[in-house]
Amino acid sequence: AGSTGMRKIAILGSTGSIGESTLSVLEHAEGLGEANFNVVALTANKNVKRLAEQARQFKPEFIAVADETLANDLKSAVSDLDIETGAGAAAVEEAASRDTDWVMAAIVGAAGLKPTLKAAERGADIALANKECLVCAGEVVMAVIKKAGGALLPVDSEHNAIFQVFDFNQPERVSRLILTASGGPFRTWPLEEMAQATPAQAVAHPNWSMGAKISVDSATMMNKGLELIEAAHIFPVEHEKIEILVHPQSVIHSMVEYVDGSVLAQLGTPDMRTPIATTLAWPDRTPSPSPRLDLAEVAKLTFEPPDIKRFPALRLTREAINAGGIMPAALNAANEVAVASFLERKIKFLDIAAITEQVLDRTGRQNGPASLSTLEEVIDADTQGRRMAEEFVAAKAAA
Ligand code: NAD
Ligand code: MG
Repeated sequence: AGSTGMRKIAILGSTGSIGESTLSVLEHAEGLGEANFNVVALTANKNVKRLAEQARQFKPEFIAVADETLANDLKSAVSDLDIETGAGAAAVEEAASRDTDWVMAAIVGAAGLKPTLKAAERGADIALANKECLVCAGEVVMAVIKKAGGALLPVDSEHNAIFQVFDFNQPERVSRLILTASGGPFRTWPLEEMAQATPAQAVAHPNWSMGAKISVDSATMMNKGLELIEAAHIFPVEHEKIEILVHPQSVIHSMVEYVDGSVLAQLGTPDMRTPIATTLAWPDRTPSPSPRLDLAEVAKLTFEPPDIKRFPALRLTREAINAGGIMPAALNAANEVAVASFLERKIKFLDIAAITEQVLDRTGRQNGPASLSTLEEVIDADTQGRRMAEEFVAAKAAA
C-alpha cells in the first residue's frame, strides 16, 4: 500500500454517514486539484438510488449492494454507465477484494467483518470506522493486518486523535489513554426519564450527526465502551490504562498521557471529515471541508467523570474485556440485537443494557475459548450472542 501518487480507493458502506463524509472529502480535494484519488468500488446495503447517484458522480468500476434481491434494480439503475454491478454478501466482499490501496471500512456492525478482512488480507491500508469488527474479532483482524502489511488507520475520532499523538516508537512511555465522551443526549437525564426515552430522543445527538445504531450507542454510552475495547486492540497499551472522561463540547477528541506527566491531545470541530481526511492522506495531509475550530467562540471546555450507575454499558464493557475470550463478541452481538429491537420499539431504552448484561451472564457461565483466534470462533460467538439476545428480547416484549 503506497501513500504517494494516485490512490485507488474502495468505500464499504458508501451510502452511510461515514461513507458520505468520505465522498465529501474526496470531492473537496478534487475541487482544489489537491489530490489524485480514484474511486474503484462502492457498496451499500439496500440504498440503490443513492449508490447509483454516487456511481454517476465518482465513476467506480464496481458497485455492490448487500441485499441480493436488489440485483436487477442496481443493474438497471446504472445500465447507461460502464460499471459492473453485484449483489449479495459475496459481492460486497468482492468490492473489498478489488485492487485498491485504501479501503474505508464503514459498514455498521459485525456485518462489516468479512469484507474488512478481505481488504486487509491483500495488504490494503484500512481506514477503520467499523468499530464492531474490532470488538468482536480484534485478535483476528489485527493479526491479518499485521501479516499482510497494510496500515490500520483509525477513523473513529477518539482513536484518530490518539493515533496522531501516540509515540509508536515508545509505547512503554505511555502511562494512560484518555478517551473523551460527549455523554450523549441523556448525559443529564435522571434514570426515571431515561426509562421512557423514545428512539427519536435517543438518536438526537447533541454534537455529532451519525447513523442510527451508533447514535443509540452514544445514548447508552455503549459506544464509549466499544471504543475502549477498540482502543485496546489498536494501541499497544493495557486496557487498565484506558480511561473514559466525559467532555460535553466534543472539542478534545482524546488524549495520551506520558510517564513524565505530559498530556498530548488532538482538537477539532465535531465533524468526521477531519479524521477521515487524516486517514485518507496519511502520512501526508489533505484539506477537508470541515468547519474550523474557533476556541474563543467555544469559550469553555468542561469535563466530568462518567456515571456508571446511569450508564451500565460502561461497566459491562469493562467486564467483557477483563473476561476476554468470547465475552466481547457476545457483548457486541447482544447490543446489536438490542439496539435494533429498541429502534423497532420492541423493548425500552434501559432494556438495551439489561439484555446485554443477561447475555454476558449466560455466556460467562459457559466454557468458551480463552481467546478468539479464528474467524469461525468469532462467528460462533456472534451467532450464539444474537440467539440469546433474541430470546431475552422476546421475553421482555411479552412481559
Ligand atoms: P450508517 O448506518 O449511516 O451507514 C452504514 C452503512 O453500511 C450504509 O452504507 C449501509 O448501506 C451499510 N450497511 C448496513 N448494513 C449492512 C450490511 N448488512 N451489509 C453491508 N452493508 C451494510 O452508519 P455510520 O454512522 O456511517 O457508521 C458506520 C460505522 O462507522 C459504524 O461502525 C459506526 O460505529 C462507525 N462510526 C461512525 C461515526 C459517525 O460519525 N457516523 C463515527 C465513528 C464511528
Ligand atoms: Mg467515536
